[in-house]
Parts: sequence; structure tokens; C-alpha cells
Amino acid sequence: SAKKAGRNTHSFYMPVMNEDATRRLRTEAELREALRREEFVLHYQPKVSLATGRLAGFEALLRWQHPVRGLVPPLEFIGILEDTGIIIPVGEWIIGQVCRQLLLWEREGAAPVPVAINLSARQFQQADLAQVIERIVGASGANPQLLEFELTESLLMADPESAAATLAAIKRLGMNLSIDDFGTGYSSLAYLKRFPLDTLKIDRAFVRDLPEDGDDAAITQAVISLAHHLSLKVVAEGVETLEQARTLHGYACDQIQGYYASRPLPAAECTALLARGQLIDRALLAAPPVRL
Ligand code: C2E
Ligand code: MG
Ligand code: MG
Ligand code: MG
Repeated sequence: SAKKAGRNTHSFYMPVMNEDATRRLRTEAELREALRREEFVLHYQPKVSLATGRLAGFEALLRWQHPVRGLVPPLEFIGILEDTGIIIPVGEWIIGQVCRQLLLWEREGAAPVPVAINLSARQFQQADLAQVIERIVGASGANPQLLEFELTESLLMADPESAAATLAAIKRLGMNLSIDDFGTGYSSLAYLKRFPLDTLKIDRAFVRDLPEDGDDAAITQAVISLAHHLSLKVVAEGVETLEQARTLHGYACDQIQGYYASRPLPAAECTALLARGQLIDRALLAAPPVRL
């Protein structure tokens, strides 16, 4: 019983530890080792220009190559990395790894395309984040203009004043900034113009039921129009069908990302896409949305 166990200091907390907590602790210990064991890997998901159908950039997405569990998706461990602060060294590894990848692709003779990196709240709270980024990118020799950072609304709104300062410092390094999952967070449109952003990414929740859902169609068109008036480029996330792509093309959306164009891919598989450039036939995109 708990009372009995209570007399034994070593097992005092055991009765209240459920299976989830135990599993979480084990995962945390494994995550502390994962960086040293080089178990983290980045996959890259293409962004495609709707005007041309060509590859416009990549987004780096973290995976954990677990020795037993296989390839673990980020939603199963990013939270633990955040809560424990392990995201700080892992985040620095991600930035360095993207820089190394940019140089590798360049050496392969590929025309350069920008690569976006997701930043977490914990990373963003670092007062010296811009200096950290500058140090890593500077040491790598990668072109800062090919780097982009994606930040969510909630992350920016947590402390808008200090967020604005950090964003400005990153902009001064020559890098680009995107607002990620737009429309799902706690948004304040007033801040859109105060943050030095380049791109707005519309969350896939608004894309999923296009073009049938009239509300989503209205929201998506309004957000694209707003973004363009603020001189922001627009990327639609989670585009899974040609019909969605055509609809967004009709709304003058700039780029799409999603399974229709490509799933996130290991770096080696991106080489062929970089060489090809053309990912979607332009004529397909320009045609009016199919109505059955
Ligand atoms: P996100 O930055 O919004 O990334 C988009 C997510 O949607 C990715 O999931 C991607 O695989 C998925 N996705 C892309 N196209 C489609 C589609 O057509 N349909 C559907 N249903 N899903 C699609 P992933 O890779 O599992 O990442 C989930 C989230 O984890 C990311 O959302 C981001 O918030 C976070 N994350 C991923 N990598 C990193 C990282 O390196 N650092 C940080 N801090 N967070 C990361
Ligand atoms: Mg993202
Ligand atoms: Mg997103
Ligand atoms: Mg997301």
C-alpha cells in the first residue's frame, strides 16, 4: 500500500507514478542521449510556387530515429524537449545541420532554395537567440539569406514587445521570418504589421475543406488579401489535392506545401527535386477548379 511504501524513502513516489509518467521519464532519459548518439534526423518538405509549379524552398522537420521505436514524429517528443530544456542544444544542432545541408546541396550543384526552421517557445525565450543563430550560421559559412525561421502566433503573442526585438535582431542577420499555423493561435492582427515578417503560413485547418466549405473559403481569401496588403508572401499548409491547389491558385496564394506536392523527405531524396525544379505542371494549376 502507499502507506507502507511511504516508510521506504526510495519508493516513496512510486505509488503515484502512473504508466504515462514512467514512460515520459524513460523517454526524457533517452532524449538526453539522442543528440550524442546522433539519433535525430531532419526531413525536408518542399514548398511549391503556384505561379510556376516550381520548388520554392524546403521546411526542415525533426524526426527521432529511435533504435527500437523506429522513426518517431515530433509531436511525440517536442513537448518533452521543450519542458526539459533539451530543445536548446537540439535546436542549435538543427540550425547547424540545416546550414551543413545547404552547403552540401550547393556542392552538388543545385540552384539554392531557402530552408525554413521551426523555432519553439523555449528557444525564443533565450535573450541572446539572435547571437546564437549568428554564431552557428557564421561558423558554418552558409548564406544567411537562405535561412528562414517559422514561429507560431502564440509564441509571438506571449510577450509581443520582446518578440518584436528578437525578430528585428534576426532580420538584421539577413534571414527571413514566417508566422506558422496562422489562424489557429491567439492572434492580434495589429501585431502583424509590428513584427518584421516576410511570410504568413495559413494553417491546414482552413485548407482541408476547400473549396466546398464556404466559411473556410472566405477566411482563406481574406487572410491572403490581408497578408498581401501587408506585403507578406502567403504559403498554404496541408494541401493534399489538386483541387485545393487550383483553388488557392485562384485566390492568388503564393505557395503551397502539403502531401499533394510532396511529403517531408530525407535529405538524400531532395537532391532529385532540386535538380528537377519543376514539381507540378503549371498548366494543371492554372486550370479552373474541377467541378463534378
Ligand atoms: P508545422 O511546423 O506546422 O509543420 C507541418 C506539419 O504538418 C508537419 O508535421 C508535416 O509533416 C505535416 N504536413 C505537411 N503536409 C501535410 C499534409 O498535406 N497533410 C497533413 N495532414 N499533414 C501535413 P510534423 O513533421 O509531424 O511536425 C509537426 C510539428 O512539430 C510542426 O508543425 C512543428 O510545430 C513541430 N516541429 C517539427 N520539426 C520541428 C523542429 O525542428 N523544431 C521545432 N521547434 N518544432 C518542430
Ligand atoms: Mg512549420
Ligand atoms: Mg505549420
Ligand atoms: Mg503545426
